[in-house]
Amino acid sequence: MSLASHYSSGKPALSFELFPPKTAAGNAALFRHLDKLLAFHPNFVTCTYGAGGSTRDKTLDIVCQVKQRYQIPVASHLTLVNATRADLRRYLKAARDHQIDYIVALRGDPPSGQPGFQVAPGGLHYANELVELIRGDFPEFGIAVAGYPETHQEADSPQADLENLKRKVDAGADVVITQLFYDNADFFAFRERVEKIGIGVPVIPGLLPALSLKQVRKITQLCGSGLPDGFANRLAEKPDDADWQRQVGVEHATRQVDDLVTQGVAGLHFYVLNKSASTIAILSSLENLSLHT
Ligand SMILES: Cc1cc2nc3c(=O)[nH]c(=O)nc-3n(C[C@H](O)[C@H](O)[C@H](O)COP(=O)(O)OP(=O)(O)OC[C@H]3O[C@@H](n4cnc5c(N)ncnc54)[C@H](O)[C@@H]3O)c2cc1C
Repeated sequence: MSLASHYSSGKPALSFELFPPKTAAGNAALFRHLDKLLAFHPNFVTCTYGAGGSTRDKTLDIVCQVKQRYQIPVASHLTLVNATRADLRRYLKAARDHQIDYIVALRGDPPSGQPGFQVAPGGLHYANELVELIRGDFPEFGIAVAGYPETHQEADSPQADLENLKRKVDAGADVVITQLFYDNADFFAFRERVEKIGIGVPVIPGLLPALSLKQVRKITQLCGSGLPDGFANRLAEKPDDADWQRQVGVEHATRQVDDLVTQGVAGLHFYVLNKSASTIAILSSLENLSLHT
């Protein structure tokens, strides 16, 4: 099934993003959680690609395991960090040999300790070049790219960032999946600007249900997303109660999702972080919206 076709059924398509676990216990836990998440019939599952290509084999291994176990489409993330063109082609060939369906084509963040993104010798600079490479040499893959409702941290301006996003779509991306955000107004304003500049592919909100104030502060600082005061203050009300904070995160994300679905998004992408409780709570309370059940 083509990547684009998931987003044309009239119902929001559902995707879950995993990361490669470091240990066998982490691997087992991932599949315990994924078994439960599968009850919501995701359209596809993705797995991130660690900084510096450090998880290359593990990423491929995880998407292969998911596909084999559940017979559903899978997407491997792929980045340009520390990779020559030949490395990228090798990975894409291996992914094709393993019947991986889609690629989330990214530039990637620099490995920790490295001040900024550095082009590997013989490598590529921007994600649009990776999209071009895939479209040219591996046309069978569906391609997703990253979009930034609050503008990518390194972009010269919101407009420049948008033009760069258009470059990725013009190169052949099928769908844009967004960075996480906690204020839907940012997403809706972005979607409007995306449409205005002539990007015609679906823009899918990326959602990370907050687990705690500490976690959400750290992650929003890292990726440059805003943390609305009202939400942060509510999380701060019971600083020592982990369950309560997780519940506040679920309530906030449930309101976000309810609003997004009402406003006609074509899909929902959950950063599930190899866990299931929050996503299950959110999707269960939204079942009356018939999300692919
Ligand atoms: C859905 C999603 C999944 C992700 N998964 C991963 C993952 O698995 N592994 C990982 O390491 N990171 C991941 N990231 C993070 C991502 O790698 C970083 O945000 C990274 O800093 C930018 O990647 P990009 O693909 O958006 O880069 P690009 O689209 O290349 O953009 C990078 C910066 O350069 C600018 N730019 C782009 N093209 C040009 C151009 N031609 N000329 C001048 N400037 C340009 C852009 O405006 C932007 O500021 C993910 C992000 C999202 C939203």
